[in-house]
Amino acid sequence: MHITHFSELNLPESLQQSIDDLGYTELTAVQNIALPLTLSGKDVAGQGRTGTGKTATFLITIFNHLLTTEAKKGRTLKHPRAVIIAPTRELVIQIGQDALKLGKHTNLRIHTVFGGVDYEKQRKAFDEGVDILIGTPGRLIDYHKKHCYQLNRTEIMVLDEADRMFDLGFIKDIRFMLRRLPKYHERQALLFSATLSHRVMELAYEHMNNPEKIQAEEGDITASGITESLYHTGMEEKIPLLIHLLRKYNVSRGMIFINEKRDGEKVARQLARYGFKVGILSGDVRQKKRMRILSDFSEGKLQLLVATDVASRGIHVDHVSHVFNYDLPEDAENYVHRIGRTARAGSTGVAISFACERFCFGLPDIEAYIKHSIPVEYLDEDVLDIGAPTDPKATADGMKHEDRAAKYAENKDDHKKQNRKPRRRPAKKS
Ligand code: ADP
Ligand code: MG
Repeated sequence: MHITHFSELNLPESLQQSIDDLGYTELTAVQNIALPLTLSGKDVAGQGRTGTGKTATFLITIFNHLLTTEAKKGRTLKHPRAVIIAPTRELVIQIGQDALKLGKHTNLRIHTVFGGVDYEKQRKAFDEGVDILIGTPGRLIDYHKKHCYQLNRTEIMVLDEADRMFDLGFIKDIRFMLRRLPKYHERQALLFSATLSHRVMELAYEHMNNPEKIQAEEGDITASGITESLYHTGMEEKIPLLIHLLRKYNVSRGMIFINEKRDGEKVARQLARYGFKVGILSGDVRQKKRMRILSDFSEGKLQLLVATDVASRGIHVDHVSHVFNYDLPEDAENYVHRIGRTARAGSTGVAISFACERFCFGLPDIEAYIKHSIPVEYLDEDVLDIGAPTDPKATADGMKHEDRAAKYAENKDDHKKQNRKPRRRPAKKS
């Protein structure tokens, strides 16, 4: 297949300039199939594994359209010209950052809205007018109901991670938004999803204009640069095994997935006690803190991130070298999402899974879904002897009792002094 260069697409100069700044030269496989269609205004329902450049696909389409087309008649500052709906706050933030980069040489106003923080600040930003509005369903609907913006002059709508919208119960909200857009043939709609399942396609056919269904790759749906392996292990061996592997591979940027958030604290605490710089990304951690933990991880201040599926969906951090399925996911699709955190955009990575007695039941489904079996590794019992914790009082970033525990550790000595009861001390007489 002919691989196109961005320079062949005749994009507006200000857009081409930001693409150059980002260092993109060739289109990725998804982009190569999708962009010729989307740039000509067609509706597309696209499937692609994580890290294949879907975000840039819809953002470039939006910028190209907004820069080359007049706004609809009657459009005011209250009418965003493009709207992007994404299921999680992290994803909205990430799309917003990508949009700022691609829109750097334009005057288009980008606004992101998501729950958890800055309600008034996000609301006020509408007063300045918005060209590209990016948000989670909840906040988008909230501000819509408060008449901060209107959808009836929108020219392009994007639904990102559509399958996840169903999983998270957002589908009513999505339909609410879609019904307020101009008629399906008077605007462009793009939908992206890890899987184009029946329910996703039903939504697509209902609200899109005869969408072209595209799939970047057939067959093997996991990223090709990932080396997978699997250890059969007992529950109580999982921590020692993890610590052994982290040491063995000298992991500098790793993500560790757990199925239930309460186990996250336990795993993270142990890792901290063995001297790893670790943070937790779970729904329990406050939004501001999650954003900070994520940026600390991106910048390398944190070496490991313990995460649940919900908290980590769609986020991307470059150069994640290792992904650990500390718990084998119960849902086969999540296996693909998790290991897709590594080997993004053509690089390579390692994905190691633990099959314990509790979660090994998901394995046949996973292997059927990825259409290959995961190579099994064996190990010497000795390696599980990991020694004593190097820092028995350490806590992980994002732990619930982290602040209190850290404070306590700091003041421990003062604490002891204050609590000393002098009268119990036998008075020494000289
Ligand atoms: P997806 O949404 O498919 O999971 P992203 O759009 O987040 O993937 O892209 C993953 C990474 O690939 C990002 O870091 C992005 O900057 C990079 N990328 C996207 N398109 C290109 C391209 N054409 N050339 C090089 N890198 C790209
Ligand atoms: Mg994406």
